Amino acid sequence: MTEKYDLIVIGAGPAGYVAAIHAAQSGLKTACIDRTVGKDDKPAPGGTCLNVGCIPSKALLDSTKHFSHLQHDYAEHGIVAENISMNVSTMLARKDKIVSQLTGGITQLFKANKVSFYHGTGELTANNMVNVEIVGGESVQLQADNILLASGSSAIEIPSIKFDGEYIIDNIGALEISEVPAKLGVIGAGVIGLELGSVWGRLGSEVTILEALPEFLPAADKDIARLAAREFKKQKLEIRLNTLVKSAQVIDGEVVVVIENKAGEEQLSFDRLLVAVGRRAYTDGLLAADSGVTLTERGQIEVDDNCLTSATNVYAVGDAVRGPMLAHKASEEGIAVVNRIAGKYAHLDFNTIPWVIYTDPEIAWVGKTEQQLKEQGVDYKSGSFPFAANGRALAGGSPAGMVKLLADATTDELLGAHIVGANASELIAECVVTMEFHGSSEDLAMIVHAHPTLSEAVHEAALNVQKKAIHRAN
Ligand code: FAD
Ligand code: NAD
Repeated sequence: MTEKYDLIVIGAGPAGYVAAIHAAQSGLKTACIDRTVGKDDKPAPGGTCLNVGCIPSKALLDSTKHFSHLQHDYAEHGIVAENISMNVSTMLARKDKIVSQLTGGITQLFKANKVSFYHGTGELTANNMVNVEIVGGESVQLQADNILLASGSSAIEIPSIKFDGEYIIDNIGALEISEVPAKLGVIGAGVIGLELGSVWGRLGSEVTILEALPEFLPAADKDIARLAAREFKKQKLEIRLNTLVKSAQVIDGEVVVVIENKAGEEQLSFDRLLVAVGRRAYTDGLLAADSGVTLTERGQIEVDDNCLTSATNVYAVGDAVRGPMLAHKASEEGIAVVNRIAGKYAHLDFNTIPWVIYTDPEIAWVGKTEQQLKEQGVDYKSGSFPFAANGRALAGGSPAGMVKLLADATTDELLGAHIVGANASELIAECVVTMEFHGSSEDLAMIVHAHPTLSEAVHEAALNVQKKAIHRAN
């Protein structure tokens, strides 16, 4: 018998599970299908983000940040710690516990919100029918008025450099290394390369990041990227720009990599090689030939501005479609689609989606960079403030970095905010709020910020846009 729903969601990553819960809360009879099996053999909804992405990477980043601070920074506080060491298996077990706690939490949330969860692989066929191959055996058939595809993404493999899960690894492998590799090579100085490179670098790996482009972090504001690069250099993360990786081969337990740069060809060897050159939309097994859903040339599910695919009442969101591959973008896109299905207003402004890179210091931004404003011919003014002049940053031992704000020269509307520094991930939120409300730098400057806090640096940067900062020359 075919079970009927108002909405079937395929994929329970941050796009799918959030949409499914929101749909059930909105009164829609909702099913969600996901096939991920956790390390405990239980269903593990939560997608890349909870299982092999945002959360486990942040668990390892936090563990190794504590370790690194204890090694390098706490002596000046008077903290004496000798013979410090890291038990890698304890660190990994802690990460796994957090992951299973959160994925188990989603299973509970599905129950609490009356979302019917199917642990299996869903395939969309014609007329909004979905065949579900349940993990461990039987198949069921479902049908719905609306379908939401949220099948996510997977790591891009360089054709000549195949993942082997041990020596040549993707994000999944890099979250599971059981012994600190003496030498870790990373292809790609993007978000994953920097975050996971930092994790193993802090534990003592000699990390070399090989980046094809001539510019470091081209998506970030240039001033922020420059400051961040300086901090990473101090941490001995070696980032080689303009470097093409020609081949990688495992020889006698080492990964031998041939690179090409201005100086010619060079051979490097590593104990592990992390390939982090971007992610691709994942649609394997998702769409039957008669589903009516088309893909773009890049393999993403083709959608319009409202996330509607080429098939009637079939939507797609998250990493599987265009736009930034971020968990919060995925979730908000899913919510917007559900609201549209429920007949409510829904809009997602891509310009106010914040980006965060969880290195130390953290990097966060929202809106336009200075180079984008220049390219677009927008007349702007800017203000900045260094954390070195912020009392709380000095008291806490994190003086590195700055806040930079960009505002329209005529209207003063905040157009971009760029932060490199401690807690940038949290500090960016008030800039996002300001931009969502089309607020000005003056609005930010007029808001009372608690003292002493890192957020005073945002306040001072806003005052600096007005050339009225108190604790720096304007
Ligand atoms: P996914 O999370 O990939 O979920 C898709 C789910 O659908 C998966 O469980 C998959 O198994 C399932 N699925 C696919 N096809 C089928 C099918 N046919 N049937 C059943 N199930 C199916 N983003 C941030 O915003 N912040 C971060 O800090 C961050 N850190 C990251 C760190 C790493 C190492 C990585 C790899 C990514 C990180 N991301 C981060 C990106 C973030 O994980 C993704 O943007 C987000 O997970 C996308 O959500 P999604 O729901 O679209 O897809
Ligand atoms: P990325 O797009 O961030 O970076 C990939 C880098 O690899 C780029 O700098 C690119 O120029 C470089 N590159 C591509 N091909 C190359 C080659 N052949 N040789 C050398 N360099 C090459 O991709 P990623 O780091 O794999 O991360 C994928 C996505 O996952 C990110 O774009 C982001 O959306 C998401 N993510 C987000 C977070 C976060 O929000 N904190 C963390 C991790 C991942």
